[in-house]
Amino acid sequence: MQRISDLEAWRDYARAQRAQGRRVGLVPTMGALHEGHASLFRTARANGDVVLATLFVNPRQFNDASDLAAYPRTPASDVEMAEHTGVDCLVEPSLHDMWPDYPDATPTTVSVHGIGDRLEGARRPGHFDGVASVVAKLFAITGPCRAYFGEKDYQQICVVRQMVRDLALDVDVVSCPIVRDADGLAISSRNVRLNTEGRSRARALSRALALVGAQPATASEHRRRLESCLDEAGVATSYVEVVDPVTLVASNDDEVGVRRALVAGVVDDVRLIDNGPVTLVARSS
Ligand code: AMP
Repeated sequence: MQRISDLEAWRDYARAQRAQGRRVGLVPTMGALHEGHASLFRTARANGDVVLATLFVNPRQFNDASDLAAYPRTPASDVEMAEHTGVDCLVEPSLHDMWPDYPDATPTTVSVHGIGDRLEGARRPGHFDGVASVVAKLFAITGPCRAYFGEKDYQQICVVRQMVRDLALDVDVVSCPIVRDADGLAISSRNVRLNTEGRSRARALSRALALVGAQPATASEHRRRLESCLDEAGVATSYVEVVDPVTLVASNDDEVGVRRALVAGVVDDVRLIDNGPVTLVARSS
């Protein structure tokens, strides 16, 4: 596995791969690698791409300084995991190279209005500006590629897809299914901050989604069931929403068909998100 930190060496690496007729599979991560990340690496590899993983804890997407300070960092095991899951090139750019003005604001920001303002965007002001700005920069340096993202961060995929469309970027966005622990909890780097009791409460998110996913209902009935599941488990709900899977506009009770349920809650100061498909049926009168 090759390791690169310099931006120009990274650009050259991707260019050289394309010149040899290979396709670059970019997998952006913030490190603290786990099975969710590994599944993206494996998918890129299975698709025949040269797997280029980036590891950068992007401060611009943290709206809360204490969340950034508490974000887990496991550089040694990250290198080992990347090596063992088929990453060809691990890119670890410096904060200074990525954001030379930091901690001052960078003059250029990419904002995806609408999709980026809802749900997580409404509760974490500036979050998706930070995401879109860093992903745009990763795409600019890597050049034409396939980019792999996990459905765990469903809204993030929608924001990135919209940005790719609007800016006509030469990137194919590939979304990959959520990887869960055996108890259903969606794997996340933040889960290590949960104690045993918190973890058992956190399972309510996936339990609630499994419940509504198995039972067609109206949008408001789905929301009610999701809310009561989280309430019963003692999870402080940030939002529960049923939305159009592309625009993320909230669904109403006249709609039928497959939509996306997204939930977010806080357990012991740890913010957790999860999502899954739901089927909407007509209200019975
Ligand atoms: P992060 O390091 O948390 O920014 O995540 C990097 C990428 O891994 C993002 O595209 C995430 O959606 C994806 N990812 C994180 N956790 C999971 C998971 N449990 N299942 C699938 N993808 C995941």
